[in-house]
Amino acid sequence: MSSTVFTIANQKGGVGKTTTAVNLSCALAEKGVRTLLVDLDPQANATSGLGLEKEEGGSLYGPLCGEGTAMEKIRSVETSKNLFMIPSEVDMAAIEIELVQRENYLAQLRICLETVRESGDFRAIILDCPPALGMLSMNSLAAADYLLIALQCEYLAMEGLGQILKVVDKLRDAGVNDHLALGGILMTMFDQRTNLAHQVVQEVRGHFKDEVFRTVIPRSVRMSEAPSFGQSIFEYDSNSSGAFAYRQFAAEVIKRFQLRG
Ligand code: ATP
Ligand code: MG
Repeated sequence: MSSTVFTIANQKGGVGKTTTAVNLSCALAEKGVRTLLVDLDPQANATSGLGLEKEEGGSLYGPLCGEGTAMEKIRSVETSKNLFMIPSEVDMAAIEIELVQRENYLAQLRICLETVRESGDFRAIILDCPPALGMLSMNSLAAADYLLIALQCEYLAMEGLGQILKVVDKLRDAGVNDHLALGGILMTMFDQRTNLAHQVVQEVRGHFKDEVFRTVIPRSVRMSEAPSFGQSIFEYDSNSSGAFAYRQFAAEVIKRFQLRG
């Protein structure tokens, strides 16, 4: 079976994209879904968040420029037998400039990932994007089946959401990726003590109904500490509220996208 590709993209910074990419990948793997996490962000937060070293030549930079293959860049992750990763490195920052010079520049990531998808090695491929709707994010949208949006439970949470949803429609209408769809919205960093957080969740659900996942990710100190140890929340504190929430989210994702069997 070919893989289902999810991109976690949003031009807003610091909303929980990487935290979601890392912990969703780990939770899916823990539940037996073979998963490949691809770090497309030059900041390489997903790479360091999983405790992987940034190696020169280890990212998709080469393959996106036509040198080498994505398959060669896949690394196993020690802590999980079902989890694999293509790391990022600072070089990725230059890919924006490289890509615009290439023909068919929106399709380069999709082309790169084709053999990986068709290998049948991975049931899910998760793309972690930088906080901009630049070449990398656009390539990820052109390569994905579904866009997952992380939305912070804060004032003006929905601001800018229209922009990325418009991009999805445009890419679909232009035939760049005619089956791209919104996979869902995940509310992150929910602080249940504040009225504002409750109001934001209610408002977003009012607008987007069932597109919003039932799971809401709580804000917690444990969640913010885990990446500095190069660990997912499951390694860092498997019994924390954050670990529970990301497990529940993974179960929802498996069900919604039929990632079993
Ligand atoms: P960027 O746009 O820079 O890529 P991002 O959208 O990927 O950011 P993250 O890096 O996942 O966002 O999160 C931003 C910060 O908030 C990080 O320091 C992260 O550890 C912290 N954080 C994420 N989720 C939570 C949470 N549920 N509770 C507490 N802190 C969190
Ligand atoms: Mg990030």
